[in-house]
Amino acid sequence: MNPVVTIPIIGYMHSPYCEKFGIPRQPNLVQVESYLEMIEPYNDILAFEGIDEFSHLWLLWQFHDNKHQANNTDAGHKFRAQVRPPRLGGNQKIGVFATRSMYRPSPIGLSVVQFLRIEKLSNRVRIYVTGADLLDGTPIVDIKPYIQYSDSIANALSGYAQEEPQRKQVIWSEMALHQRQQFIQKDQIPIRIFNEMEQVLALDPRPAYHEDAERIYKMKFSQFDVNFKVIANTIEIVKL
Ligand code: SAM
Repeated sequence: MNPVVTIPIIGYMHSPYCEKFGIPRQPNLVQVESYLEMIEPYNDILAFEGIDEFSHLWLLWQFHDNKHQANNTDAGHKFRAQVRPPRLGGNQKIGVFATRSMYRPSPIGLSVVQFLRIEKLSNRVRIYVTGADLLDGTPIVDIKPYIQYSDSIANALSGYAQEEPQRKQVIWSEMALHQRQQFIQKDQIPIRIFNEMEQVLALDPRPAYHEDAERIYKMKFSQFDVNFKVIANTIEIVKL
């Protein structure tokens, strides 16, 4: 057996992404708020002294919700050298180490996020961020500050992912608008949640080659089951 490394989980992500469908494929594409909650003994506020001087953080985390660890040789699966990134339409293969695929030998995710604030309440320590691409409940294995002079490379080549994904226009059906009003007024749901929902949908979460204007897709976001359809460059939220 190849050598393995065991590393601790230091906390868990709490995000509105309750399922994988809809999660942006990279960080920093949407301003969606989430927080990490540290677990003992890493919930020591001293471990975060100085962190509020950084605007962005790197999160290292575990792809804990992979259907099968296709690329994890230690779980007895065969190493697959190539994957099919959704960005290439899902039908073109490319080397796994030339992608950010979740199916890789060490199922470790890496995401740059914007740091908002840290909150401490008795022994509970929460770090609020925006822009994360992590499923709710994702184990966090490390947090590091983003260092601008070193981590930002202005003219970097980014292969098949050179351009930011295009965004679609998001509109609301009359019914969905009415529901939104009710949720805001009666249930005190912050407007922010609906703005975040729009940003996520604008990235068009559908798998490649789905061009059925009649089809209603469902995305779970926060406590909502968002029903939407896609007509050309417009996404309509049909109901919540
Ligand atoms: N930014 C990270 C990276 O580069 O390592 C992740 C990139 S990966 C392409 C992003 C996708 O991982 C998301 O769209 C979501 O479908 C999936 N994902 C997020 N959290 C996950 C988890 N805990 N387990 C498995 N897959 C997850």
